Amino acid sequence: MEKMKCPVCGAEDLGDPSHGMCNRCWWYLAPDGCGVDFGYLMYRIKTYSDGVRRMEIRPRGFWSESIKVSEERENFSDLDSEIKVDISWSCGGVDGTLNPVDTAISFRDAMGFAIDTAIGWRNLRKKEAEQDRLNDKKD
Ligand SMILES: [Zn+2]
Repeated sequence: MEKMKCPVCGAEDLGDPSHGMCNRCWWYLAPDGCGVDFGYLMYRIKTYSDGVRRMEIRPRGFWSESIKVSEERENFSDLDSEIKVDISWSCGGVDGTLNPVDTAISFRDAMGFAIDTAIGWRNLRKKEAEQDRLNDKKD
């Protein structure tokens, strides 16, 4: 029997073949995962009940969400407290589907994407906070 390759990342171990892709790609791209395949990376954004967001980025060539952009409330129990944006990263291990240089390039590009996202989220939160201050003055 011919071994199937993941059509998304090229991994040879699919895990559950009924998904039609490997388990790692399925984690991002399952219909309920709301992930996006961007070519050099995959990402998914979760929005929590208090409105803060968390983006998990898997650069092509990596196993897992190596880069995260996350929002956190300064005081998690106060819904009016300021929201800070953070970026974190770790290797998480490579999946061997790209050569080492292309793997590094994909990580670099994904990091740029994460930084742009973080700046966009931070600017949006600043705008929202300024609007809240203006609304408070009117009351
Ligand atoms: Zn895959």
